[in-house]
Amino acid sequence: MVWKAFVTRRVGAHKSPQYPELSGTQLALTWIGHASFLVQFPGLNALIDPNFANWLFMLKRLKRAGLKLKDLPPIDLVLLTHAHFDHFHRPSLRKLPSPKIAIVPWGVGDLARGLGFERIIELEWWESFAHGDWKVTLTPCKHWGARVLRDHHRGYGGYLLEYCGRRIFHAGDSAYFDGFKQIGERASPEIALLPIGAYFPDSFRNVHMGPDEAIQVFRDIKAQYMVPMHYGSFKLSFESMDEPPRWLMELAMRAGLEHRVRILEEGVPALF
Ligand SMILES: [Zn+2]
Ligand SMILES: [Zn+2]
Repeated sequence: MVWKAFVTRRVGAHKSPQYPELSGTQLALTWIGHASFLVQFPGLNALIDPNFANWLFMLKRLKRAGLKLKDLPPIDLVLLTHAHFDHFHRPSLRKLPSPKIAIVPWGVGDLARGLGFERIIELEWWESFAHGDWKVTLTPCKHWGARVLRDHHRGYGGYLLEYCGRRIFHAGDSAYFDGFKQIGERASPEIALLPIGAYFPDSFRNVHMGPDEAIQVFRDIKAQYMVPMHYGSFKLSFESMDEPPRWLMELAMRAGLEHRVRILEEGVPALF
């Protein structure tokens, strides 16, 4: 799999981002690729799991990040869902323009040190941190946290980011599990960023989900919009690279949800 990726030509292009002027509680969401997003409110620029790498060790990125790191706006807040290399990419974090606050799950703070953050906050599941107009809550998921071997003390999760009544949820990496119903009840997210890749062979579904399960999660949490992620950039599994979004849209149409599933183009801000 690694070798095949090695000889595959990288596709996609960096966009010159046209960040919209926001007012009130408008939200602009820019998918950078994989699990990485820029979330913008009028008074907040937040990144989630930023990863601009062309290589993760021997694993080649097959689609360019939608933005160049140098084209990011000043970053107030960085949310990191867990320590896996495709989500917690230290070389990307080190180059962020004056990042202020990093929020990480329990046992992950040491990895964020020395990267230029003014503050590093560790959260347990359902713990929150509030600052100014925003509040962040770490939510449960079904995954694991070890970055290498023997560091199973590291936590993992998803995030709810609230800003003046808007509620956006990034699920991190997760298998399908019952806890999403509770997340729906307690957090009632409006926009759900849900992973849909790395689900084949079936054994991978112990830690990831496919489009079929992601649609079920979308129903469980009763969000208004779903934005799919965690596909198309790195080949982490054996389904074909273009299968996840295709299958997702088939399922969404069958369920009459196609107007509520928004597939974003990397590097192009979408308004919500
Ligand atoms: Zn992971
Ligand atoms: Zn991942």
